[in-house]
Amino acid sequence: MSLLRQLPVSDDLSVSVYADRVIGPGRAYAEESDSALLNRQAFAMSISAEEPDEFVDWCRMNEPELLVDGGHSFVPRWAYGRYLRQSTQARALDFGDSLTRITGRVTDAAREGDVWRLVVQRPGHAPETHRHDVVVLALGSSPPADPYRLEGTERYTQDPYPVDGWLPSVLAGNTAAVIGTGLSAIDVALAVRARNWAGRLLMASRQGVLPDVRSDLEPMDFDPDVGALIRRVRLKHGGLEWEDVTNIVDYLAVGEGLRRSEVRAAFRAISEPAGARLAGFSGRPASIAPEVQRLVICVAQYYANDLWSAMTRSARSAMVATAHVPFQALANPLPARSAQVLGDMVVDGALTVRHGVRDVAPSATGLVVSSAVGDEAVEYVVNATRTPAGAPSGAAASLVSSLVYAGTARRNPYGGLRVNVDDNAIIGRDGASVPGLYALGEIASGDLYYISSIAKIRRRARAVARSIAEQVGPVPVPVPAAPVAVSGG
Ligand SMILES: Cc1cc2nc3c(=O)[nH]c(=O)nc-3n(C[C@H](O)[C@H](O)[C@H](O)COP(=O)(O)OP(=O)(O)OC[C@H]3O[C@@H](n4cnc5c(N)ncnc54)[C@H](O)[C@@H]3O)c2cc1C
Repeated sequence: MSLLRQLPVSDDLSVSVYADRVIGPGRAYAEESDSALLNRQAFAMSISAEEPDEFVDWCRMNEPELLVDGGHSFVPRWAYGRYLRQSTQARALDFGDSLTRITGRVTDAAREGDVWRLVVQRPGHAPETHRHDVVVLALGSSPPADPYRLEGTERYTQDPYPVDGWLPSVLAGNTAAVIGTGLSAIDVALAVRARNWAGRLLMASRQGVLPDVRSDLEPMDFDPDVGALIRRVRLKHGGLEWEDVTNIVDYLAVGEGLRRSEVRAAFRAISEPAGARLAGFSGRPASIAPEVQRLVICVAQYYANDLWSAMTRSARSAMVATAHVPFQALANPLPARSAQVLGDMVVDGALTVRHGVRDVAPSATGLVVSSAVGDEAVEYVVNATRTPAGAPSGAAASLVSSLVYAGTARRNPYGGLRVNVDDNAIIGRDGASVPGLYALGEIASGDLYYISSIAKIRRRARAVARSIAEQVGPVPVPVPAAPVAVSGG
């Protein structure tokens, strides 16, 4: 939708959108419940990089009561879904006959001379072939994981979205568990609380790490030329070692008046199992270290991709092993309102957080969760764990495999497919950008560390839109239209 929003409307450009469901807000924004909030403030959620206030303006026009804190408000996901729907409808009118929407699954993409040949499976139809000059893969987020091999088990839901899929079953019982302690697990807890469920929810994961609570400090305005620093270290050593990365982050911290020890302490504290911390949220939820959180958000927003792409293989391994989990927990904090609800639930005995989960197994009456405190029986389990970023969903699997098998694309050991970090072009077996093939969203993760928030997607989508606009160029009439395909919703 962000790409569509940012592509030029031109008689010389025709666009086809392929999606295996009705094109709409998708998994993240289809929830109707008021309890499911965006995890970014409204000001970060426009799908247009050139009109960053677009979503706030949409709220002002359509749902002004949601902007309790102006652009800093966390609004419900349903409102964002409506914004996306309306934006897409408006774009469809702009494009008119130049936009075609095809409900079907793209299972193969291959270069045929100067064009791409897509194979599309539509329910009840024989496979169809469509041809386009440019293809953009926007295949969505990685699917839920199944760490305890429970898919298909009774009283178990593999995907927490949509919430309505499992909510009636949980509400009908007295005990349930959610596996995972990330933002999706928190959505599960908030959803049962919003329905005044009187039962007891166990939230359990291996490490028990929960996101930090969003502080209300203004974003950092400190803006040193980290690019120059990275270039200097690269010239000297060929790539950033993990020590170089921590030195650069320390340098940024010092610029904010923070000591290295404070940054280290915040990373250690957020890595601790969060059960005990949650009870304190009932009073006034607070960040573990507001200034460190602000620094980490700034690094995530502005520097993480540059740092990551300059890092050596061993530096990346060190990052994944030591800093990735606490970095994510600090960089993606919870709205304070949500943290307070969780705190109240803990104080009431409605929510218990466990760490050290070893197993979740079916039993005669439901399932048993084995954690650091022993075995606990529950009537229902909702899974909120995810496969690593960039793992293709069921819908995307065949297309991604066909591209990799043919050597058109390469898998990235840290995520989805290899991409050129400058313009999101897919990198092929020979290490060069593949002409006319781009990736957006999580499938582009691996070369890019931080890719899937809307704030990132919109900037990357603008870069891809610009490349396409350049490729299409000001074509003189009456040369026929140059078609573009966007695969995925
Ligand atoms: C639960 C959740 C909450 C999130 N909340 C936020 C938030 O609050 N703020 C924020 O900034 N970011 C958030 N994100 C991150 C990001 O904004 C969303 O993931 C966003 O929806 C990504 O959009 P997308 O188009 O890449 O994926 P999707 O919306 O998932 O769309 C991809 C579509 O492509 C289809 N598809 C895949 N393969 C094929 C194929 N071969 N043929 C045809 N169709 C195919 C899929 O079925 C799917 O419908 C959230 C992510 C999740 C998962």
